[in-house]
Amino acid sequence: MKRLYIWMAALGVIGFLGTFLGLSLARKYRAESPELKRKLLILGIDGMDPQLLQRFMDQEKMPNFAALAARGSFLPLQTSIPPQSPVAWANLITGMNPGSHGIFDFIHRDPATLTPYFSTSQVKPAKHNLRLGSWIIPLSEEEVLLLRHGKAFWQYLDERGIPLTVFRLPSNFPPVSSRGKTFAGMGTPDLLGGYGTFSFHTDDLIFSPGPVNGGAIYPVQVAGDHIEAHLHGPVNTLRKENPELIIPFTVDRDPSEPVARFSIQDHQFILREHEWSPWIPLTFKFIPRLKGITGICRFYLKQVRPQFELYVTPINIDPSNPALPLSTPEKYARELSRELGYFYTQGIAEDTKALTSGLLTDDEYLVQARIVFEEQRRLFDHELARFRTGLFFFYFSSLDLNGHMFWRATDPKSPAFDPELAAKHGRVLEDYYREMDGILGEALRAADENTTVLVVSDHGFAPFRRSFNLNAWLVQNGYLVLRAGASPQGRDIFRDADWSRTRAYGLGLNGLYVNLRGREKNGIMNPGAEAEALQREIAERLLAVRDPNDQQQVVTRVDRAAEAYSGPDVSQAPDLIVGYNRGYRVGWDSVLGGVSANVMEDNTQPWSGDHCIDFTKVPGVVLSNYKIHAEHPALTDIAPTILHEFGIATPDTMKGRSIFDPSGQKADRGAPTPDHLEKSH
Ligand SMILES: [Zn+2]
Repeated sequence: MKRLYIWMAALGVIGFLGTFLGLSLARKYRAESPELKRKLLILGIDGMDPQLLQRFMDQEKMPNFAALAARGSFLPLQTSIPPQSPVAWANLITGMNPGSHGIFDFIHRDPATLTPYFSTSQVKPAKHNLRLGSWIIPLSEEEVLLLRHGKAFWQYLDERGIPLTVFRLPSNFPPVSSRGKTFAGMGTPDLLGGYGTFSFHTDDLIFSPGPVNGGAIYPVQVAGDHIEAHLHGPVNTLRKENPELIIPFTVDRDPSEPVARFSIQDHQFILREHEWSPWIPLTFKFIPRLKGITGICRFYLKQVRPQFELYVTPINIDPSNPALPLSTPEKYARELSRELGYFYTQGIAEDTKALTSGLLTDDEYLVQARIVFEEQRRLFDHELARFRTGLFFFYFSSLDLNGHMFWRATDPKSPAFDPELAAKHGRVLEDYYREMDGILGEALRAADENTTVLVVSDHGFAPFRRSFNLNAWLVQNGYLVLRAGASPQGRDIFRDADWSRTRAYGLGLNGLYVNLRGREKNGIMNPGAEAEALQREIAERLLAVRDPNDQQQVVTRVDRAAEAYSGPDVSQAPDLIVGYNRGYRVGWDSVLGGVSANVMEDNTQPWSGDHCIDFTKVPGVVLSNYKIHAEHPALTDIAPTILHEFGIATPDTMKGRSIFDPSGQKADRGAPTPDHLEKSH
């Protein structure tokens, strides 16, 4: 035993010496390598649209963008097939196409069981458990897996000791290992395990209790001005019946004023009507007396009386004590929350679903979305202030989510348009573009002569006026057959399809799958000629679909996975990727396998702008303070560009090339390093 201890001590000393030597070598390397003095500052702006940007620049509303475009370059950036954020950012992160990184849509399905799942990450329950009475004690840890494949661009930088901060890029939860600072973004779940579940607590009988899209409504007990309610946490996987972990809370209304006092665990706070609480940390205990896991949420007191109405945000993973990995290094999340306080950690933080469900009004949603933006800006300012060298990449979500929700306020052709709404909220999107201009201004002021500044967006934007219910169309045309007796209401492929006669089905925002023998659970189509003929036939007929209202073409492009993608994951892809015309998108029902009664419907929902269409119709943007030489830059060129900036040759796995690089050399960018010379196209 003693000998073992001595050996361990000796190894420790060697380890320490090794670290010490490594550090001093790294310091020397840094001093001697010109590329390590380089600074690359990238603003990743989800959904920034080239047409809107050009218009606001022409109207002199975006002086910093206009100055950047005049000094360097501004070009449309080719997006991914399909142009959905998790797919597009994965193209940017890996420099590869979906056939290689494996993210094809927000929603994938397991062909063996025909169950849909979120495409970017998965929580695997513990493999071994011990059962004791009503307890199930896990003997191994549950595992959280990132389903995106391929090396992230910052991992190449990391290997060379280049400092980096990569903030909230989508399709990176849990974050891949890195010595640099990274923080997970879109794809990060809340504590309930989904993409964000809000709760709404009321005694108003107009709301029927139970789940709603993106949340749940709970009744409260009212006795005079005393209200008792419960916050519903994650399920207790340690108990056989997996009950929900519940935290009771009380609210006492002031007898005359629109004010109430809240009491939950050991927190007390007072809110006026229409006021938001700060983030409140809560502890969910799995086993009494043992430490529990913590989450954070904010309370919005919507109405005090006559009926009580309270909105509570999804319970976010607590950055000061993360129950699931949020950052690299692990302590980075804790440091940020110590320095800046709590903030949203769930992937998509803007609560568009509470607005769609009618539980938050336009004005209330806009306050919530503003909270999200102000938090992002505070984090950005904090990191920008300490950016000295290497890479700083920061992601902003506001243009995308607010573009989805407020397109209707600027689009008189939208079925959800009304002049009053336009008068009140017609500038929401423009105001957020101006905010981005302010942020770019800060970035440009922080840039020195060694700094390359890039602005990139993953896709542009288009109106979403009419829904095309792909599965209803497949039924109407005999490709998808429903069992006799399936009720016309709430039908879906998982329960109601007659698989023995179904040749194809739709799932996700752009995916269409052939019911292929040997791949799908109940496949009937033979791979090869039979399946390919079917794909061609369906593609042709989709392209011929016209909107009965005005004879517009509804689908303008259909890509076959076999032609659009390359790499080991192509077999997981939808067989066809359906590209809608501007103005159209797949109906919400079809996204999760539903079969609605009508093929085409007006979209009257607040979610009135979209981009999950024909990828050639919604390019993103790329801007830089240096001249961009690429004539048709694509998202997959951004990773090679970043590597090139630090003198790293493009790996074989990446098909793109640096956008600054017309010939394989950076002739206009100072002395090329040996790496620059090595690479040729
Ligand atoms: Zn979007």
